[in-house]
Amino acid sequence: MKTVLITGSSRGIGAAIARRLNDEYKIIINYNKSKDKAFTLMEELRETNPNVIAIKANVSDESEVENMFSIAEKNFGHVDILINNAGISHFSLIQDIDFGTWKDVINTNLNSVFLNSKRAIPNMISKQYGVIINMSSIWGEIGASMETLYSASKGAINTFTKAMAKELAPSGIRVNAIAPGIVDTDMMRNDFSESELLDLKKEVDTNRFAKPEEIAGLVSYLVSDEASYITGDIIHINGGFY
Ligand code: NAP
Repeated sequence: MKTVLITGSSRGIGAAIARRLNDEYKIIINYNKSKDKAFTLMEELRETNPNVIAIKANVSDESEVENMFSIAEKNFGHVDILINNAGISHFSLIQDIDFGTWKDVINTNLNSVFLNSKRAIPNMISKQYGVIINMSSIWGEIGASMETLYSASKGAINTFTKAMAKELAPSGIRVNAIAPGIVDTDMMRNDFSESELLDLKKEVDTNRFAKPEEIAGLVSYLVSDEASYITGDIIHINGGFY
C-alpha cells in the first residue's frame, strides 16, 4: 500500500481527496489550525482503513515540514505520493497589499510546495517512484483582478510544476498541477457574499461550482498508474469557465 501525504486536508478539497483515496492508500492528513476537523476526519477514515494519521504542520515552515515528514516516515515509511494542496486566498487592490501579506500568501501557497517537495523527493528518487500533484487555480493561468497576489502564487506553481516534471522524469517521478475553477468550500464561502456567488455562477457554463469530490476524482486518476504517461501538465477542471 502506497503512502499519500495531503497538505491542508483538514477541510475542503484536501479532506475530499483524503476520503477519495482512503480505500487504496495509507493516508497522512495534514492540518495547521483545524485540529478538531482533522481528528474527526481521521476517525472517520479509520473506520475502514487503519493506516491513517493526522499531523500538525504549518507547511510554510521548514522545521514543521521536517517534523511532519519524520513522523510520517516513522509510521508509514517513505511518502510515495505528495499532494501539495494547502493554500489561502487573498482579495485586495495591488496598492493595498502590504508586503507582510504578500510574503504570507507566497509562503503558504508557493514556498510550501517547494519545502514539501524538496523533503519528499530524495526518498522518491531512491525508490525511482513518486507522484507529486500541486493544487493550482484557474487564476494562475488567466489572472484575476483583486487577486493578483493569489494569481501570482498559482502562476508560479504552474511553471515550477513543469520544470520539476522535466527534472524528475528520469527518476520515475511524475509531477502535475490541477487548476480548478471555483470549488464550493470555505474558501469561496468566506470570500464572497451570496449575491456575489450567484453572479459568479452565471459566468460558469455549467451554472454551478465544482464539488470538492469532483477535484478529488481527478486527483485519484492522476495519482494512479492509469495516468503513468501524464507528467508536466496543468490539468484544468472548471466546468467550462475557461
Ligand atoms: P479551504 O477550504 O480554505 O481549506 C484550506 C486548507 O488549507 C485547510 O485544510 C487549511 O488547514 C489548509 N492550510 C492553509 N494554510 C495552511 C498552512 N500554512 N499549513 C497547513 N495547512 C494549511 O480551501 P480549499 O478551497 O479546500 O482549497 C484547497 C486548495 O485548492 C488551495 O490551494 C486553493 O488555493 C485551491 N483552489 C481552491 C479553489 C476554490 O474555489 N475553493 C479554486 C482553485 C484552487 P487548517 O484549517 O488546518 O489551517
